[in-house]
Amino acid sequence: MKGALPSVYITREFPGDGIARLQKHFDVTLNKGGRVLSTGALKRAVKDSDAIVSLLTDTIDAEVMDAAGPQLKLIANYAVGFDNIDLLAAKQRGIFVTNTPGVLTESVAEHTFALLMAVALRIVEADKFVRRNKYKQWEPDLFLGMQLRGKTLGLIGLGRIGAGVARMAQAFDMKTIYYDEIRHKDLEKEFGVEYHQFETVLKQADVISLHVPLTPKTKHLIGAAELKAMKSNAIIINTARGAVIDEAALVHALATKEIWGAGLDVFEHEPKINHQLQKMNNVVLTPHIGSATAEARDMMSQIVADNCVAVFDTGKPLNPAA
Ligand code: NAD
Repeated sequence: MKGALPSVYITREFPGDGIARLQKHFDVTLNKGGRVLSTGALKRAVKDSDAIVSLLTDTIDAEVMDAAGPQLKLIANYAVGFDNIDLLAAKQRGIFVTNTPGVLTESVAEHTFALLMAVALRIVEADKFVRRNKYKQWEPDLFLGMQLRGKTLGLIGLGRIGAGVARMAQAFDMKTIYYDEIRHKDLEKEFGVEYHQFETVLKQADVISLHVPLTPKTKHLIGAAELKAMKSNAIIINTARGAVIDEAALVHALATKEIWGAGLDVFEHEPKINHQLQKMNNVVLTPHIGSATAEARDMMSQIVADNCVAVFDTGKPLNPAA
């Protein structure tokens, strides 16, 4: 505590009322201007803070926690994923870590479907074609795509977002199968979804969509062998985390037509994008905007503020990460 109120360091500005609410309850320091802080700058900036509000672009490891000091009580992440935070180091130091689950589920599920439809119906390629004045006459085989009705959707991870995608798939009359390390029998009933082994989902699905967190177990879950196991007309969608796919293997599979296409919102080395991916027509790329709706981002900022207030008022976080 620097003054009368607990101090909160916010690593970058974000939309919604959350920052204004934090300013009412805490002594807030905000990194204005939108630039991601280097590790050194972050370590200096968080010194003596009671709480850090972080974004997924900040790596919060043991060094950053120690640079803040022993009074650090909370790291409130403005994201549902928390692979940017060393949870073990936080636990060892008695620091709470919170995330913003639930409120961005619909937005990410919608973005997943937007990517799927854009790839399957070749929307981006066709849009570029029209803008370049290449549309001269109607053609029977111009931009032939893939109809979704009757196709099999394979979900890897049937948590909040995976279940949202399963619900949307019902409206498209798709058959949905899934693999998750936990079986969700309630959702199987609710959305008519079938559970299968990971390898079976890879083999049977026309569309694979990833909805697992990035953990040591899920890093490169999809590599060369898994891509080979997929159908040659398969589309893969990744709105989870880039490193769940071995990106070099994906580029190879797309270039050699082992699979049909990909829709990617996240990248293994983001914000660096593989140049070969950028040149491929069978790929649709978005800059990690899965949760970028005004509604979701506003609610995320509310949850960040709610967690800060709860921890300092009651000693209990509302949304502890894992
Ligand atoms: P969730 O925790 O509700 O669901 C994750 C599911 O993955 C759970 O059912 C869990 O059992 C399963 N799982 C975990 N490890 C697994 C493994 N090794 N093998 C099989 N299944 C495993 O999370 P959610 O809210 O659905 O979010 C999923 C992920 O989406 C987040 O962790 C985050 O990384 C990502 N995300 C991305 C964006 C974006 O902007 N693109 C936005 C929000 C979330």
